[in-house]
Amino acid sequence: MAVPKKRTSKARRDKRRAQHDRIAAPGLVRCPNCDEWHMPHRICPSCGYYGDRRIEEIESEG
Ligand SMILES: [Zn+2]
Repeated sequence: MAVPKKRTSKARRDKRRAQHDRIAAPGLVRCPNCDEWHMPHRICPSCGYYGDRRIEEIESEG
């Protein structure tokens, strides 16, 4: 069985554990059209644009 050669220092251990919960919310980008936040590689839910093209009609936009 593999056994650690050196004891992990408190700093290294705590840095590792601090990293663990950090990856939470970076799945948002700003819409280039209306500046709302939305998920990357998805159409914008507020204006219906994907990139610079209108993909889906949104009610409020006439
Ligand atoms: Zn938008």
